Amino acid sequence: MIPLLRSEFDELAAAAARALATETTPVVVPGEAILGIEAVARCCAAPGRRFLNLANGPYGAFFGQWLREGGAEVRDLEIPWNDVFDAQAVADALDETRPDALCYVYTEAVTGGANPARAIQAAARARGVITIVDAVSSVGADPFRMDEWGVDIVSIGMQKALLGSNGVSFLGVSERGLRWMRDNRRAPEHSALSVTELYDAERAGIPAHLPVLEARDALRAFREIEETGGVDALVARHRALAERVRREAKALGFTLYQAREAACTALNTTLELPESPAAAAFSGEGIVRPGDGALFGRLLRVNHYGVSATDEAVNAALKTLARLL
Ligand SMILES: *Cc1c(COP(=O)(O)O)cnc(C)c1O
Repeated sequence: MIPLLRSEFDELAAAAARALATETTPVVVPGEAILGIEAVARCCAAPGRRFLNLANGPYGAFFGQWLREGGAEVRDLEIPWNDVFDAQAVADALDETRPDALCYVYTEAVTGGANPARAIQAAARARGVITIVDAVSSVGADPFRMDEWGVDIVSIGMQKALLGSNGVSFLGVSERGLRWMRDNRRAPEHSALSVTELYDAERAGIPAHLPVLEARDALRAFREIEETGGVDALVARHRALAERVRREAKALGFTLYQAREAACTALNTTLELPESPAAAAFSGEGIVRPGDGALFGRLLRVNHYGVSATDEAVNAALKTLARLL
């Protein structure tokens, strides 16, 4: 495989910037999204730095752990996984704990819930708090506006809604977010986990350790998204499919796993596992998957995202669901 040309690398970063709705230049992470997320935690954490971490799914918990390992003071705000955070409750917690930074997962693919990111951002912005968002499962499926919402650090990958695969991911970083990481004397140095070194290196050249196959696949995916109307059209497609799956699954007799329908992500749809022998024996078919990790035996996930955000995939999924009752 031929390494990316500078022009192709710049095209990749520009496409990620469009997906994030930012004027800043995103960092291209030569690894899976989880690597970028860990790098952010390591670069932000330091003794004396205070974080409020919203946890209503599995990914939030990891992030809090990495911050603690870096010596930071972390307050986890927890709610049940079948619910999302109320922006007013987040605002109250910010007033009570007065952290330097707020971190949360926008969309949890494991639970099917999407936190009200726009309203949470407004609460954080009003208080001048740095915001760190895991939007790996959001961008492409749920609306996202980095600059308008005032997000400081955000991670995305290609493998959920963005029609690609994992192996290359991106970090959107505001000027303030970058400064905050540069100011951290405890941030990793000469390390694959240094976001600021990667940022500076990419201004000088293409990182030698960028996986070529995955970078080319990300470029292909972004071009495909552009050709079919851009990220907003992709979001609209996910939304229409999610609405259809919820409506038809309820008509079949399923109960949504998320307590509030308005909190459902457009990425996928989670349904309570029905009490039937077929459901008890179910191990997955097409885009209908059993619950992940702690949610195995509790719910079903209909993963109508990315390349599976099609009527054909959803038609097949609804037939599968009907057989499980
Ligand atoms: C999928 C996902 C990730 C990480 O993806 P990897 O494939 O492990 O890199 C991170 N956060 C959320 C919320 C996700 O859904």
